[in-house]
This record gives sequence, structure tokens and C-alpha cells, in this order.
Amino acid sequence: MSDKQPNIQPGRLDKETVESNFSDLHPPLQSSEARIEAERCYFCFDAPCTTACPTGIDIPGFIQKISSNNLRGSALTILTENIMGGMCARVCPTEILCEDACVRNIPGDKPIEIGLLQRYATDPIFENNTPLFTRKAPTGKHVAVVGGGPAGLACAHRLAMLGHAVVIFNQDKKLGGLNEYGIAAYKTVNDFAQREVDWILSIEGIEVKTDMALGTNFTLNELSEEYDGIFLGIGLGSVNKLDIPGEDLPGVENAIDYIGKIRQSKDKTTIPVGKNVVVVGGGMTAIDIAVQSKHLGSSAVTIVYRRGPKQMGASTFEQKLAQTNGVSIRYWAQPLRLHGKNNVTGIEFETTTVDQNNSLSVSGDKFHLNADIVFKAIGQTLDNQKLGQELSNLATKRGKIIVDQTQATSIPSVWAGGDCVLGGDDLTVSAVQHGKIAATAIDRALGAPPNG
Ligand code: SF4
Repeated sequence: MSDKQPNIQPGRLDKETVESNFSDLHPPLQSSEARIEAERCYFCFDAPCTTACPTGIDIPGFIQKISSNNLRGSALTILTENIMGGMCARVCPTEILCEDACVRNIPGDKPIEIGLLQRYATDPIFENNTPLFTRKAPTGKHVAVVGGGPAGLACAHRLAMLGHAVVIFNQDKKLGGLNEYGIAAYKTVNDFAQREVDWILSIEGIEVKTDMALGTNFTLNELSEEYDGIFLGIGLGSVNKLDIPGEDLPGVENAIDYIGKIRQSKDKTTIPVGKNVVVVGGGMTAIDIAVQSKHLGSSAVTIVYRRGPKQMGASTFEQKLAQTNGVSIRYWAQPLRLHGKNNVTGIEFETTTVDQNNSLSVSGDKFHLNADIVFKAIGQTLDNQKLGQELSNLATKRGKIIVDQTQATSIPSVWAGGDCVLGGDDLTVSAVQHGKIAATAIDRALGAPPNG
């Protein structure tokens, strides 16, 4: 870091402390714990937990198999519906999905620990690289999958199973998308994201081309000449701007980029971090960068969000996680201007309120927070600069691609899913479901018989 930013330094904490801070957020269950937890399940008919799962995993079914010590069968039940069931067991906000819906989630009781049980069932598959799925005979059809994140990988795997030849075009060196570059390191330790990718690709029939970005290295037109179908799982490459004075000052950073740096660093004590950190935003990304800044040794970390705790994209669990790790959260305030001459030194906020129509307005009170780093975490959008020409033919709304219920876009033979589509909700599990639905639709469009 430059001399002009003396408060942004690496090595605020010793290596041992940092390693401990970045250890597994939810350590895995031991087998006796898993059996006891599995036996708490009522194995509900029409299980509400399954309905609440975006990928529709048969949750009582996989838990029952844990009870009977059939871990391979349990993993098969999970991964048949959600090929990234290993990562989702780590990063899904279960407290607002399956565990929220669990019938044992009532006062005086507690929901079944579905996420931890899912991890217990699937971990051995990835540890031993156990194959569970096979490919059908080759169909002679070729599909291009643009983007190797959760949506692209899920789509590619399902297409490969159905016998199609798939090529994934990925702009980064590693596949995995946000699972590899955009999620807090303590949620996915021991390089799990890459082990999961390797296992997914082991089905064969999927070729991977890295450093290949749509709009830079190839066009949709070129792909459509060569492939029978195209799936776009391109994520959102551009970070929303604060649009306030001082935004270009050194020290104003995109949270998602910094999370990527932390994830890719072998020695986290080398990551420079501010003494005073302010995060603007209210989603998982805001929590992930705030907690990791604390784990790297920042003295004061404050998240500022323009609405209240209930409206925050981050779940109550994530908000509490931040607070118990020493992060302050200030609700009902929005940024007004950034201060500093050579680099950012602080940020001014104005308090907010809502009227009867739930419209946000400022209430006039202002406050200032000192900051060596200000992280922007107010969402992302499609990168129009890079994709401009490519997107001009695709119907979009609010900066995202419009798709129908089969994930088909406005261009024939082009499907899309994940964060880049309208209705995408920043969750790995939803992106996987999009990829799965699109693969089924592509398979049908390529001439497979119904249910083929
Ligand atoms: Fe088991 Fe709860 Fe699902 Fe019922 S709702 S099947 S108790 S996990």
C-alpha cells in the first residue's frame, strides 16, 4: 500500500490468529451427532423443508438414509437435485429456506440442522472423488456454456449427463464463479470450491476454455454458428456505483473484488486492511467483507445500510454473525459524500426514513465515520461496457437478462441463468436450479424425447 495510506496495512494480526479466524464457520458434524440429529426428523409427508428448497431436494429422504447409514444413497438424493449440494450445505442461508420451513422450527424446539446434515452426507463424495453419475451415449449435439459459475456448471453437468458435448467458456482462470471468488473464505475452507468443480467435471464430456470472456474473446454470433445451443451464466461483472462525490479516491474499493483477493491469497496476513473500515450495503457481500476485515485485524468496522434490519438482504443469522464478530451495523442511513484529499479518510451519511408508501427519503440528520477503506457492496449489474454489443440483441430489464420459465432468452437457442437474469437472487442454490431447468429445456430443444 502507498505511503499516502499508512492506515492500510497487511499483517495486523499474527498468522496463527488469522488462520484461526478463517477456520470453518460451521465445523462438520461427527457421525454420532449426525445420527442423533437425523433421528430428530419427523420425515414429514409433503415436507415443507423440501418445498422451501429452490432445488427441491428430497430432504426427509436424504435424512432417512443418514439414519440407516446409507451415506452414498443420501448424497445421491441430494446431488441428483443439486449438483452443488456440497457448497450449498456450506453457504445456503438455510435459516430463511429449509430450516425456516422445518416443522420443528417452533418456540421451545429447534429446526433440524439440514445444512449440516447435507454436508455430512456429501463430504465423503468429494473427499474420495466418488463418481455418482454417468453419461448417456453421445447425442452428437454441442452446447456452449458461457460462464463457469454455479449456473453454468449445473447446466453443463446435466447436459453432459444427457450425452451432449459441452464447452464451458470461463473468463477467469478457475471455475466456480462467486463460489471461488465472491464468498467469505471461512465459509468454504480447504479449497472446497475447486474440489467440487473437479468432481463435477469428472463426469467427462465437458471441455473447459479459460480466459475467454464474452464480448472480448468471442461473440454470441460466433458461438451460434458453431454450437446447437448456448447457455449464458455470465454473472454480473460490474459493481453499482455510489454516485457521490469522492468515489474515485484511493481507498474506495469494490467489496466483491477484495473478497476475491482474500480468497485467492495463500497467506492472508499479506492482505492490506484498514484500521477503520466502512462498508456500504446490506447483502451477504457486505457481511462477508466486514467480517473478514475484522478477521484480518481492522479496529473498527461499520456496515451502513439505508433501510432496517428486516429489509437487509443479509439474513438475521448473517447480521448477528457480523455483530458477534465486532462489526457495528448502522441502519437507516445513506452515503452523502466521501472525504479525503489523496485518499479516503471518511464518509458522511444522512439518515433515512420511509413514508407510508415505503418510499425512502432522507430525514436531514448527518453523521461522519472515519474510514481508511470504504467498501462498496450495493449490488452488481451486467457489465455493459464489456458486453454492450452482445447485450444489444438480448431483452433486458433493470440491467438483467429477461428469461421465461425455461430460462430461454429473447434470442432463439440461447438460455440464461444465475445472477445475470431478472429474478436471480444472488444465491448459489437458485443459480443451480436455473442451470438445471435450462439444461432440460436445451435437451428438449435439441430433439431429446420428453423425459429423455
Ligand atoms: Fe424433517 Fe423438518 Fe423437513 Fe419435517 S420439515 S421432514 S422434521 S427437516
